[in-house]
Amino acid sequence: MNLIETHAHLDDPRFEHDRDALIDRAHAAGVRRIVTIGTSMASNHRTLALVERYPSLYAALGIHPLHLHEEKTTWWKELKRLATHPKVVALGEIGLDYYHLPSDLSSANLIQWREEQLQALQAQLDLAVALGFNVIIHQRDLPLTKKKELSEDSLLHQFNAWDDLLTILSSYQKKLSAVFHCFGGSVEQMHSLLDQGHVVSFTGIVTFKNASLLAQTIEATPRNHYMIETDAPYLAPVPHRGERAEPAHVRLIAEKIAQLRRCSLQEVAAETTLRAEAFFRFSP
Ligand SMILES: [Zn+2]
Repeated sequence: MNLIETHAHLDDPRFEHDRDALIDRAHAAGVRRIVTIGTSMASNHRTLALVERYPSLYAALGIHPLHLHEEKTTWWKELKRLATHPKVVALGEIGLDYYHLPSDLSSANLIQWREEQLQALQAQLDLAVALGFNVIIHQRDLPLTKKKELSEDSLLHQFNAWDDLLTILSSYQKKLSAVFHCFGGSVEQMHSLLDQGHVVSFTGIVTFKNASLLAQTIEATPRNHYMIETDAPYLAPVPHRGERAEPAHVRLIAEKIAQLRRCSLQEVAAETTLRAEAFFRFSP
């Protein structure tokens, strides 16, 4: 078995006490490579320390939209310097988060809040192009039920992270490829990404009972155009739902996907590994 776990946050303090054992368990489950993801400058530094220690770990570095406000204005320069480390294989996770709202919901603040996210994203996409990396994208929108609770004139009714991302990425077409991590979109959305040369990645959510729309998307995704990930420590698949996720669980996700796509586990392993090797430019 040769699986690649394409998205875990192994610098998370929840892994502090048993990281060695957890990496052994991942290997035992057939996971040969793990991409561990930085989300802030502090997390990027921790991530690099980990990939130096464990041969099967590789790094993606970036400033997640939810951590932007913590960073010094010079973060871009530091990220550029860190990203030249030989075990960095992508930039991410970066993107747009319109789900976690600022405390000040005035129009002036919302405009600035969105603008800051857009600028940080664009700066990191430019850096990815300059360094020859693909990117890992975080995209989260406010659900309709939450939008209904807002006042009618709130600008948030017009904000849409999905649309903003597609617009921005269209100007990077052929320069880089983006993986929409933890993809939960429709069949149509999946195709619009693939048409632009991007990739989708599926998490343990696929094993959850209420994931029937996601199941349709997974069934419809063309061969060799998707990757798998746990997003550990979050989103543990069934039967570990609610617990701390870990990279070994990527096998459970692959098994569920094989069931949905009516193919073998080996086939899912082969096509997701092939895609991940190309995306992160691993040699087979
Ligand atoms: Zn993540």
